[in-house]
Amino acid sequence: MDVLLGKDHVGLRLCWLYHYKPPYLVSSKQQTTVAVTVASLLGIAAGGLIFWKLIRRQKHKSCVALNLGRAVQEREKEDTSEENFLSLHSSSTIPWVEKILGAEVVVISEAEQWNEVEPFIQKVLVRCPVLGIDCEWVSVKGKKDPPVSILQLAVYSGFCTILRLPQLTRGGQVLPKTLLDILADGGILKVGVGCWEDACKLLHGYGVTVKGSVDLRYLAIRQKYVSFQESPPQNGLSLKALSESILRYQLDKSFHLRCSNWEEEELTPEQVAYAARDAQVSVALFLHLLNLPFLPAGSKYALLPGWEKVLKMCQGLADVPFKGINRSSFGDDENTGGPEKKRNFPKSVNDGHSPVNQQSKDPRKLKRKPLGIGYSVRKSPLYDNCFLHAPDGQPLCTCDRKKAQWYLDKGIGELVSMDPFIVKLQFEPSGRPESKVDYYLSVKENLCVVCGKRESYIRKNIVPHEYRKHFPIQMKDHNSHDVLLLCTSCHAISNYYDNHLKQQLAEEFGAPIGCEEGVRLLEDPIRRQVRSGARALLNADSLPNARKEELLQVIKDYFDSVTVSPEMLQEAAGLETRICNENYMPHGLKVVQCFSRGGLRSLMQLERRWRQHFLDVMQPRYLPMQWSVSHNHEKLIQKYGEDLQVELS
Ligand SMILES: [Zn+2]
Repeated sequence: MDVLLGKDHVGLRLCWLYHYKPPYLVSSKQQTTVAVTVASLLGIAAGGLIFWKLIRRQKHKSCVALNLGRAVQEREKEDTSEENFLSLHSSSTIPWVEKILGAEVVVISEAEQWNEVEPFIQKVLVRCPVLGIDCEWVSVKGKKDPPVSILQLAVYSGFCTILRLPQLTRGGQVLPKTLLDILADGGILKVGVGCWEDACKLLHGYGVTVKGSVDLRYLAIRQKYVSFQESPPQNGLSLKALSESILRYQLDKSFHLRCSNWEEEELTPEQVAYAARDAQVSVALFLHLLNLPFLPAGSKYALLPGWEKVLKMCQGLADVPFKGINRSSFGDDENTGGPEKKRNFPKSVNDGHSPVNQQSKDPRKLKRKPLGIGYSVRKSPLYDNCFLHAPDGQPLCTCDRKKAQWYLDKGIGELVSMDPFIVKLQFEPSGRPESKVDYYLSVKENLCVVCGKRESYIRKNIVPHEYRKHFPIQMKDHNSHDVLLLCTSCHAISNYYDNHLKQQLAEEFGAPIGCEEGVRLLEDPIRRQVRSGARALLNADSLPNARKEELLQVIKDYFDSVTVSPEMLQEAAGLETRICNENYMPHGLKVVQCFSRGGLRSLMQLERRWRQHFLDVMQPRYLPMQWSVSHNHEKLIQKYGEDLQVELS
């Protein structure tokens, strides 16, 4: 909220200094900034006081006092009263909920602002990997599925960021990788009411992957806070209802705020408070539902005690939509009286990393375990690292076990050794590697080439298939170079960035990306007019006569008839308004075609661009040796010459 005080976010810096004291704000340069800020803030203090009070009315500790020393002292006092907080947790007033609701809120419209708060968020996430999540958007009549205007994320302490996505992606900018990282990390739970739907909206509107979403309504039912026999499903399970019944906190859901303009140049303090509240209440609900302690900053725990239990409790609930409560049962396995004992929670795809099976392990190792949803990950390693040798013993390439075995089974290979598995071919191969450092000769490790994670990796096509599939046959062989392994989070993030490059290529080459509906089929305005006119005539008796005539004329024109029969009217009302776009060409083909006009070397530019893009945005730290953006290019030019007529596949 403080950020609203001034455009240069003086409030944010100031308040932080004595609320959270993030270490990166304590450099001497920063101190100067703050000193200057304090001076300028004092200048506007008188005028801003009313405003200040307004936006901080939920706060119980006054922020008006610019007494740095006292504030720090107070904060330190809080730190030592951990036991006190633990006991308060079970009392009836839930003061820690007020604490969460009174925490700082920061509005973020630029990447730099995110970069400033991100280290602090990371620090809190290490202790408690959970985020209250919510989205707001502007509903425009007639516009289906409007994109998200703001994304609210509240950490365990209540600190909330309000991310203005249209501003953050203005001018084709990409969202910060650290933000995408947090969202794609299934080990960080994203809790809210309807958060699965929010995740879908973010994916469709921005290509952002959100993993680890858990709908609080499931938890409320599972923990028996909501008895669905008593309360009607609709009212009983809204965030507002849960907040009131479980936290005894009245959530303001007034229409004028809910439906306000979330894309306004400056959000009002009420909008900011409203938006933040939903995310903060979600975190508070989560803690309360799972009976987790609220610990003040600086407590002795690295990871919140009881986190294993949390994962167990959320097992099977991550990344699934809330299906309502009209099911036979939502009861737990134990102590559910009556015949409805069957567990009816959505099943998760278990990838073998289920936290349930790992209770004995160090809980800190558990915290980032995804709950096993989403991608189907590879169960066997991608690289078996078997070797093929030429008849004279020269190493040719590495290959998988199946392929090596095939040469043996066919009787055209001879087993040289078992470990490593080496097969010597008994015929002269069609080609031999140029040098001893050929890419295909190097042993590849089964790990994420970006972050080095060794579990749950999947293949990543560095040059997306929609382009690669049109490449000429000469450029198609040996393309395992452009298939790398990524973990699921890195994979999701890299897809996000790929969409941006695709978008760029689409603009550069006039090759729109779209599903069949949007691109292959075009909406015909005349047919549309005829259809809506006919529907109006059929459904509205009270149309003025002049209007009726007008609409009838449109239909007469369309059928080229002087009268309109009831059958014609019916036909017009059901008219297909989309017509086939004859110029439709898939995006990938169009782009490849444009590049290939310049010959082999030009098409290689496209390949190079995708490879370089991968390096730039993902900065992989574990690339196989000899992986290169111009892989095979010189070799191909030598073999086929520059003027090879490129024939697209
Ligand atoms: Zn990774």
